[in-house]
Amino acid sequence: MSPRLWAAGAFVVLLVALIGFAAATVPWHRAPAPRADQLAALGQLPADQVARARAFHAELRPASYGGMFLGLLVALALGLTPLGARLIELAGRPFGDHWLARAVLGGLAVALVAELISLPLAAWRHTVVVRYGISTQTWGGWSADLLKSFGVGAVLGAIVLAGFFTVTHFAPRWWWAFGAAGAAGLVVLLSFVLPVVVEPVFNRFTPMADGPLRTELLALAARDGVPVRDVLVADASRRTRAVNAYVSGLGPTRRIVVYDTMLTEATPGEVVSVAAHELGHAKDRDVLTGTVLGALGAAIAVVALYLLGSWQWLLRLAGVDSIAEPRAIGLLLAVTTVAGLIAGPAQSFVSRRVEARADTHALTLTGDAATFEAMQRRLGTVNLSDPDPPAWEHAMFASHPSTVQRMAAARAWARGDR
Ligand SMILES: [Zn+2]
Repeated sequence: MSPRLWAAGAFVVLLVALIGFAAATVPWHRAPAPRADQLAALGQLPADQVARARAFHAELRPASYGGMFLGLLVALALGLTPLGARLIELAGRPFGDHWLARAVLGGLAVALVAELISLPLAAWRHTVVVRYGISTQTWGGWSADLLKSFGVGAVLGAIVLAGFFTVTHFAPRWWWAFGAAGAAGLVVLLSFVLPVVVEPVFNRFTPMADGPLRTELLALAARDGVPVRDVLVADASRRTRAVNAYVSGLGPTRRIVVYDTMLTEATPGEVVSVAAHELGHAKDRDVLTGTVLGALGAAIAVVALYLLGSWQWLLRLAGVDSIAEPRAIGLLLAVTTVAGLIAGPAQSFVSRRVEARADTHALTLTGDAATFEAMQRRLGTVNLSDPDPPAWEHAMFASHPSTVQRMAAARAWARGDR
């Protein structure tokens, strides 16, 4: 049997595994959040605040969509014309056109070009979030964060590029099998490593100070039966006024992180409500589910790239002989950018369902729908989120249910409508 036939078989098996795993783990049923309750909640929010949030998002839209469009355009220009291949040849020239130099330096050059072209739009976005008082960062702080994320991206990118093209170089017929296993393994590894290695590059984390709140949060976790290693406070205030909390890491690296802004902006009851939502993620193993879905998705992507590599028309456009050579990095960027845009809405949908389940968990654990609703109102107000965004935008991009959906879910829950 030829490698191509094996790859086609592996593609089908992995796809079935992804669909099966998603079917079994994604909470397809959503607790009710009747539209009538949503509209009632919307009517009770201060009108000037709603107007301000909508003005904020209207001002962000051109930069956001412009950035997305420009990113796609650059990827297509580098991948569907010989431009990308030229750039990679140039980057490898000082090193005698060695394949490893082309892979790592060429790949980083392609990524840098894409980043630099979209930089003005990112700067434009920054001016808007500063003007609306969400970001507290000066241009110096903003640039420092940008350089740090370039640095982290360059290290990770170099590892991935060197690993991937070493495999394609030494196993030209079976690279898709090693590549798929490697990509899946990398996703799992990053789930463990990112929270402990990369997050501290951007924020300082300190254990929450002893006191009634910490005691209450740990008691809440104990009552929920969720082992929590620690409750950490992130110094987010040096960057933003936005409030947030999240749970990250798996097993021994799992922790609940609360932004310091949350402690100054919200009441202790609201912090408990947010923590109860985060415990829901831990209890339902949402990080693990996301990791497995991501690992399967990454493996499928590698096999799909291999299969796509037999499409001569595509290779001719990019001016390359094979999709597995370093000169095809621009083509890989184009294909993955398009695939990412197509997969985005499905990922957002799954994320919203998972978030709605964590909301229900918070309501059940605290039994306090009123504080939950107050917390949602607070999150929406401080973060200047559109409480009831346009339906298409919500469907395409929203990772969480909207503020009015979450408030409506709390009202339905309080009525016993579950
Ligand atoms: Zn959540």
